[in-house]
Amino acid sequence: MPFLFLQQFYGAWIDAGIHIGYNRFRGDNMDQVRTGGLIRRFRTEMGLTQKELAERINVSGKAVSKWETGSGCPDISLLSALAEVFGTDINVLLTGEISRNESEVGNMKKMKFYVCRKCGNIITASSDAAVTCCGNRLSALEPVKAEESEQLKVEDIGGEMFVSSDHCMTKEHYISFVAYQSDSCFMMYRQYPEWNVQFTMPLFRTGRLVWYCTECGLRYQELRRK
Ligand SMILES: [Zn+2]
Ligand SMILES: [Zn+2]
Repeated sequence: MPFLFLQQFYGAWIDAGIHIGYNRFRGDNMDQVRTGGLIRRFRTEMGLTQKELAERINVSGKAVSKWETGSGCPDISLLSALAEVFGTDINVLLTGEISRNESEVGNMKKMKFYVCRKCGNIITASSDAAVTCCGNRLSALEPVKAEESEQLKVEDIGGEMFVSSDHCMTKEHYISFVAYQSDSCFMMYRQYPEWNVQFTMPLFRTGRLVWYCTECGLRYQELRRK
């Protein structure tokens, strides 16, 4: 397949490195096994069954099972869909490993948060970025480990995680988002003043919750398997 065609098809972000990586991937059975292992790891970290993952990218559950055991490899168009579901880079899936560099750049646990004090805009970046909003340059917020008394309440309710807090939620002082971060996954739950913090999310056994209060700033707590 000519590179230009690929570039048109997947947009400017696909680079020659991916192309070369893909050729290597096709020719090397070891990479296929590693890619499969990584797909399984990402999938289980997200708490998805093979069938659930298959549905998200419109393939059969059998296909996912084949990839995970290394007896088949996903088509490149599916790899980009998989990368999107996992919130990772296509290169990571191609090589089947999170290299040192990639784990810095693509590591969802190192996601940076920027909040504009003027308009409340929340911006995230997976590595350092020049972020501006409302004419101001924003700097990344440093998360502070939450004291026991500040921590969000996390309960396992039949396979899901119920998150709640009795933190102040007035218009002047409230939690504006709660996010989940692990090495490979990132999700954010927007919160609103005058509503209590309470929502359900997939049950994760590792990773951390990060949340932002308009007065207290960015806090985090690690999730521990109970
Ligand atoms: Zn702004
Ligand atoms: Zn607060």
